[in-house]
Amino acid sequence: MAKYVFITGGVVSSLGKGISAASLGVLLKKRGLRVSIIKLDPYLNVDAGTMNPFQHGEVFVTDDGAETDLDLGHYERFIDESLCADNNVTTGKIYSAVIAKERRGDYLGGTVQVIPHITNEIQERILRAGEDRDIVIAEIGGTVGDIEGQPFLEAIRQMAARVGRENVLYCHVTLVPWLEAARELKTKPTQHSVQELRRIGIIPHILICRSHYAIEEGMRDKMALFCNVPPEAVIQSLDEPTIYKVPLSLYEQGFDRLVLRELSVPCLKEPDLSDWSRVVDGFCSPERNVEIAMVGKYTNHKDAYLSVVEALYHAGIHHGAKVHIRSVEAGDIEAKGGGDVLDGVDGILVPGGFGVRGIEGKIAAARYARERNIPYFGLCLGMQVAVVEFARHVCGLPGANSSEFDPGCTNPVIHLMEEQTRVCDMGGTMRLGAYPCALVPGTKAAEAYGVTQVSERHRHRYELNNDYRKRLEEKGMVVSGLYREKNLVEIVELPGHPWFVGVQFHPEFRSRPVKPHPLFMGFVGAAVQSAQSNARRGQ
Ligand code: GLN
Repeated sequence: MAKYVFITGGVVSSLGKGISAASLGVLLKKRGLRVSIIKLDPYLNVDAGTMNPFQHGEVFVTDDGAETDLDLGHYERFIDESLCADNNVTTGKIYSAVIAKERRGDYLGGTVQVIPHITNEIQERILRAGEDRDIVIAEIGGTVGDIEGQPFLEAIRQMAARVGRENVLYCHVTLVPWLEAARELKTKPTQHSVQELRRIGIIPHILICRSHYAIEEGMRDKMALFCNVPPEAVIQSLDEPTIYKVPLSLYEQGFDRLVLRELSVPCLKEPDLSDWSRVVDGFCSPERNVEIAMVGKYTNHKDAYLSVVEALYHAGIHHGAKVHIRSVEAGDIEAKGGGDVLDGVDGILVPGGFGVRGIEGKIAAARYARERNIPYFGLCLGMQVAVVEFARHVCGLPGANSSEFDPGCTNPVIHLMEEQTRVCDMGGTMRLGAYPCALVPGTKAAEAYGVTQVSERHRHRYELNNDYRKRLEEKGMVVSGLYREKNLVEIVELPGHPWFVGVQFHPEFRSRPVKPHPLFMGFVGAAVQSAQSNARRGQ
């Protein structure tokens, strides 16, 4: 039977609960245990699909096409496993399921209530995650004390009774702030948030204390005493140069060993973390620098392109390079009427996006990269704008566009397929999740992947219009990846260019620190070369 680790957060949000959960996942998996990680999100949205990246950061897409919270991206990158829709439970999903059951009459006329019906439904999802697993790590989104989080906390409290106290462990991530006026770290917020947890019947076994400065022994003992945990269960989590160092530092403090001790799971073997150490060393001591412009429209939100940024870092580490990201607002390129804001970069990446704002700036960025031989990588929308640009300026179709941005367009090189109906509800006609992509031998894409068939994740509505394919190809654009079953273009590239590749999918979701994505490696490798030749020219 599975054992359960619940990770809650206190004091403030954005403490990195997801990273703590993912780090524990790595450590336990590397000890040979079968681990599952789930995120319980108290918000009312059914999934993250309709959420604005400005507010909530990136939407992470799984193989089975679920649009999930970005923490699932951390989980996948850390434990190196593909997750699915069931790994993200939201209040929206829980209520939808309970209301559907009520309508079907499943509750036999009973009054349907938060306790037990909602809390039972939550527990069913947690139990389901434990099938065929040794350990389930469940992170509860939000902060202890939030109104919408209460049914989740009540559900995890009841889990102790349901599966046995000895099979559950509560781990609370909290903040130990530095008070400049007193020149001290303060423990009171932690004490209060643990009190809040105890008030609802949850007694944490382990505290993970986020702080800017090291927590001294006296302070650790004080927190242990007030929060009723042994001193070794007060784990500190300092700000690290890279999130990939967190598993290493938690391991050094015996976090995973403690979890296993509390759950009476024998420590099978010590985890081999050498690959993670190499990633951290590579990140902390790069041999060279490379600057990539990321042309988007959510550039002010640090998490809006999280997986893209991580994938660039992974590839950078592979090439011994520190990737510096120049966030360029597509609107700024439009306002300035050109690509000056891109001057001096070693590579240009246009990530995915929706809506018309900034689109001409992205098209200008693709043109800038094509004409100046700067490595270009277009992801989803980034591929679509590259195709529109090529159609306008190389194929001589000045009115070329995507019908997403110009519904009456006379040359819709990017369009909705016939079988897709024009509906506005999000998700309705989206191509979501993993699809196979056949690679054309001899192309840059095939060379980068080193195989002939891959599977990549999608999240879009529009596709390259096959009516224009011949014209694009005649002028030198090469189709290097295809979804054969529907004859859809998945990858385009320009052979005469150092590295110009556009993909209809989102390769960033498959990149891992210990296994960077082949196309990101190809792109960053080309950017490193372009940085080197720029430097030579500058000498
Ligand atoms: N807006 C485009 C489409 O729906 C691209 C989506 C994306 O980049 N994820 O096809």
